[in-house]
Amino acid sequence: MTVVDPGFAEELYQFGVDTALDCFNCGTCAAICPLIYEHFPRKMVRYIQIGAKDRILENPQELWRCLHCGLCTKTCPREADPGEVILGLKRYVVANWRRS
Ligand code: SF4
Ligand code: SF4
Repeated sequence: MTVVDPGFAEELYQFGVDTALDCFNCGTCAAICPLIYEHFPRKMVRYIQIGAKDRILENPQELWRCLHCGLCTKTCPREADPGEVILGLKRYVVANWRRS
């Protein structure tokens, strides 16, 4: 069962993720991403929006698939900066991994 944390988006500010709530889930980033992988990176942004931090911490290696090519960020119509969101989530995962 996924535990929802409504404060997750705010918690991520300290890791440089402050644009996820601007996303309106159009899916452009998932369409342009060369990974062609399970709606990545859109689904990561969505996890933040709904506070599903467990989904990210249960499978953190997904984040390391990102090539940091920047295509998602360039094409996002909301300037939600999904590429930077992925980078910030990596910082979050590393910080939480150290604490556990
Ligand atoms: S392109 Fe931008 S607004 Fe559209 S789903 Fe991706 S992050 Fe959200
Ligand atoms: S930066 Fe990462 S998530 Fe964005 S399009 Fe490139 S590989 Fe996909």
